[in-house]
Amino acid sequence: MRDTILLTIFDAFEEWSAPIPKACVKGCAACCTRHVTLTALEGERILGFIRREGLERWFADRLQIDRLTTTPQLTTNEYAEACLQGIETSDSGDPGNFEPCPFLDKNCCVIYPVRPFGCRCFASEKVCRPGEAAILSDISVAASTAMMQIIEHLGQHEYWGNMLDVLPALCDISSYKDIAGLFADPSMIIKARLRTRRARPLPGFLLLAEEQEKISPLFKAIFSTRIDGKRIEDILNGRMPTPLPL
Ligand code: SF4
Ligand code: SF4
Repeated sequence: MRDTILLTIFDAFEEWSAPIPKACVKGCAACCTRHVTLTALEGERILGFIRREGLERWFADRLQIDRLTTTPQLTTNEYAEACLQGIETSDSGDPGNFEPCPFLDKNCCVIYPVRPFGCRCFASEKVCRPGEAAILSDISVAASTAMMQIIEHLGQHEYWGNMLDVLPALCDISSYKDIAGLFADPSMIIKARLRTRRARPLPGFLLLAEEQEKISPLFKAIFSTRIDGKRIEDILNGRMPTPLPL
């Protein structure tokens, strides 16, 4: 059920954001860095894809390349919670790691069908040049942040963090032991686990009134969708489906 909710969010966001001008084309990958965050739920979709495609050896090798990651100090919902409570959050001063993502091959994403929301929502209105930031409208950023909050809520209590930490951390689960066995340095799993955070429930959105109005069709498309006869809004507001133990 959680996977179906996740896919509903991906599809609804894609449809809602379609009219926003984008310069992004296949093979343009300056934005594909080692700075992507995701939930365990999204990580498990990637691991399932790796196995279905027979990419276990490639995946294990790619994860071991110069694994310098950056670790956010707060999850998106922890940050929102602090803001809603009027608590100042300090900038970690972490410059981020903007080296190319290890899942790129000839400037194309090998795991494209299962890329996490953090990759799906990223687009620029003008072609990014080296050293220049992407240009995103305020409404795109607001909607993407709200979607990330819902996805984190969906994956609450599980791993949340840099993609290059969450993926090896998940390999500690018995169903992925075969992939874990391919790592030359098995200690990378425990080191990655220690760098992850736990996803938190949604404390509320950080949206201005005018942003809420523009994003309301997106919320409506997601929340009114029914899964097994239940509206997603009711599922998210009620007791969440029990996640797999980590
Ligand atoms: S965000 Fe920038 S670098 Fe990434 S695909 Fe779009 S134009 Fe290219
Ligand atoms: S997972 Fe794919 S889309 Fe995301 S940053 Fe890496 S190469 Fe780019």
